[in-house]
Amino acid sequence: MDPVTKLAAIQQALTAAYGPRPHRPRLDAVSELVLTILSQNTSDVNRDRAYDRLMAAFDSWDAIASAPAKAIAEAIRPGGLSQIKAPRIQHALRTIHVARGAYDLDFLADRPLDEAKAWLTNLDGVGPKTAACVLLFSLGRPAMPVDTHVHRVSGRLGLAPRRASPPRVQEILEAALPAEAIYPVHLQLIAHGRAICKAQRPRCDDCPLAAWCDYAHHAGDWADVLPSLAGRGRGYSPAKPGRVES
Ligand code: SF4
Repeated sequence: MDPVTKLAAIQQALTAAYGPRPHRPRLDAVSELVLTILSQNTSDVNRDRAYDRLMAAFDSWDAIASAPAKAIAEAIRPGGLSQIKAPRIQHALRTIHVARGAYDLDFLADRPLDEAKAWLTNLDGVGPKTAACVLLFSLGRPAMPVDTHVHRVSGRLGLAPRRASPPRVQEILEAALPAEAIYPVHLQLIAHGRAICKAQRPRCDDCPLAAWCDYAHHAGDWADVLPSLAGRGRGYSPAKPGRVES
């Protein structure tokens, strides 16, 4: 099957399984940036606790930007790595204010996508995934955040090379998908990674994408790595599944 047909079939199956997932902005772009910095290397629950504590402790971005770093670190402590994230948040806020005269990133909605990404990734501690979260979730731009689920499922399906880095997978998916599909496919791949295509024990026997999956068919990048799944029972676990996650 040619790649375009395969991708279209996967999109259709994802939508049938997980719904159409229309875009719903959740936060303004500055809030999304702060939230996403807090999400680095922690769970959603701890991220949200850190964010809520930060918002409760300070009444404005100005107050956060000008507070002692120690006070920010204390507020965001539940999110982990607070000594690193506190200066990142303050640096980002100060840079935005100096550059724009306000705590506002809405101007990135109108910049060319590569330029908007570059602007954000010039901030300390902001990589391609964090930038993509801000651009996609807040501003509706077609940038694909590649988290562990998107990375793993894309690699197994053969949408991207198995060993491609997350930034490379981001480039590949952004180039392959229509702009309007980036948001729903992002959410659908995460849902699929959590429910079916789990890291250690992918449920291939229950998977609505199995017909197009390189991993399940011992094809593509997986041809020389895994034994055929043919004849294996439900819940078959590959020899070295952890290598996909690194
Ligand atoms: S067939 Fe298996 S490896 Fe492929 S996407 Fe489905 S659960 Fe993941």
